[in-house]
Amino acid sequence: MHEFDYVVAENLTEATKLLSDHKGSARILAGGTDLLVIMRNGRRQAKLVIDAKKIPELTDLSLNDEGLSIGAAVTCRQIWENTELAGDYPAIIDSASLIGGIQVQGRATIGGNLCNAAPSADAIPTLIAYGAIAHIQNSDGQRQVPVEEICQAPGQTSLSEDEILVKLTIAKPVAHSGAKFLRFIPRNEMDIAVVNVASMVELDSEGKSFLKARIAMGSVAPTPLFVKAAGDSLAGKEVNDESIKAAALIAREAATPITDMRGTIEHRKQLVEVLTVRTLNAAVARAKGEQS
Ligand SMILES: Cc1cc2nc3c(=O)[nH]c(=O)nc-3n(C[C@H](O)[C@H](O)[C@H](O)COP(=O)(O)OP(=O)(O)OC[C@H]3O[C@@H](n4cnc5c(N)ncnc54)[C@H](O)[C@@H]3O)c2cc1C
Repeated sequence: MHEFDYVVAENLTEATKLLSDHKGSARILAGGTDLLVIMRNGRRQAKLVIDAKKIPELTDLSLNDEGLSIGAAVTCRQIWENTELAGDYPAIIDSASLIGGIQVQGRATIGGNLCNAAPSADAIPTLIAYGAIAHIQNSDGQRQVPVEEICQAPGQTSLSEDEILVKLTIAKPVAHSGAKFLRFIPRNEMDIAVVNVASMVELDSEGKSFLKARIAMGSVAPTPLFVKAAGDSLAGKEVNDESIKAAALIAREAATPITDMRGTIEHRKQLVEVLTVRTLNAAVARAKGEQS
């Protein structure tokens, strides 16, 4: 690994000043489970690594009447350990509890998962399905961006070189809503998703019709994909196999996967259809309180 300087930033002002003073040659380190790997294998160089794990705004995990706020340096383990969170945001737990194994989850963050912008990232479809907002800051101020607008290409985000992700917020889910994340890998854990899908649904008070749905998926395009048309197709439709299958077929059509050692184009398209059906059914069950 090449040599680099390392600074533990104490606050946001210090971190954004360092990013601005070393524009292009500094990287933020959250858990380091992606950054250190890609610096070691030479895919990314940094002269300065800024450890963000001591910045108060980035380590805050809070839940209130407005919704959920996940600081960008909050670990996956802190998320799945939080029992309060499971009730309203079960799909966040679905993702956080399967990223890597137990050691990785003690370091890895959802913020890092997003900023690393891997097409296969397991937290990003869930964030998109929930309509999460990224709060981004530089020395000049803050801006807020829907998560689906962050990833631009593999490993590339819409953040400028002087910007830091501060937190991710998700509005409090409305009554009769539910969400589910699933991924397919050929073994039980510690593998990259062949395909992953997250679905969020809002149902009417009787649980008979969809009011709204959001579907997102990974490993099927250069970036995690928000399939707006698939979710929109469900609005006003009855909750039944036919409407769910139709949404899954739209998702399948939207997928533009490649063939690689993990799967073929056809296999991945089939997985999109299957996982969309399964996540929608599970999200409906959660919305009805039938499944935790
Ligand atoms: C053994 C192993 C297994 C893994 N398994 C999975 C898996 O199952 N699913 C999966 O999706 N991933 C997996 N990963 C990848 C990785 O663990 C995740 O992507 C993790 O969420 C990254 O978070 P991190 O905090 O470690 O990010 P870091 O490595 O600290 O950062 C990742 C990137 O984001 C940037 N960054 C981090 N925080 C910020 C910020 N606040 N503002 C701006 N830029 C920032 C960094 O500069 C870097 O470029 C695995 C990795 C390993 C080593």
